[in-house]
Amino acid sequence: MKSAAIAQHCPLCQQFSQIDIADGQEVCCPHCTGRWGKIETLENIFDRCPFCECRQFYLSKDFNQFLGCLIMLLGIVFVPWTYGLSLPVFAVVDWALYQRIPTIVNCYRCGCEFRNLKYPKDFKAFMHHIGLKYDKDRK
Ligand SMILES: [Zn+2]
Ligand SMILES: [Zn+2]
Repeated sequence: MKSAAIAQHCPLCQQFSQIDIADGQEVCCPHCTGRWGKIETLENIFDRCPFCECRQFYLSKDFNQFLGCLIMLLGIVFVPWTYGLSLPVFAVVDWALYQRIPTIVNCYRCGCEFRNLKYPKDFKAFMHHIGLKYDKDRK
């Protein structure tokens, strides 16, 4: 199994980093050594975000949306040559790719990403009305 990790843009130096985490670990930025926060236990990590104390999280897929859009776009581009057959084919490819991409948990407030961690079943995908609440806190 892959080790648990968090990733975010450092609030101090803005560099993006991914760091493996464990119980009781102090997390510091590998670029500027600025302290991000402390992991109490991996088990209870989603009680509160270890960096900003936010209690709300959302799920997302670990890839940029761009890839999915690009594949759909290719399908559309090929429509004239395949009499529309490429669309369902590409939609399937898109879906298959999507299934292979691991789910990550994101903090609503600071936006940091949690990988390879067990998360509660009631976590949901990004909800716009909750996101709005935190918009002002994000850069
Ligand atoms: Zn930094
Ligand atoms: Zn946070």
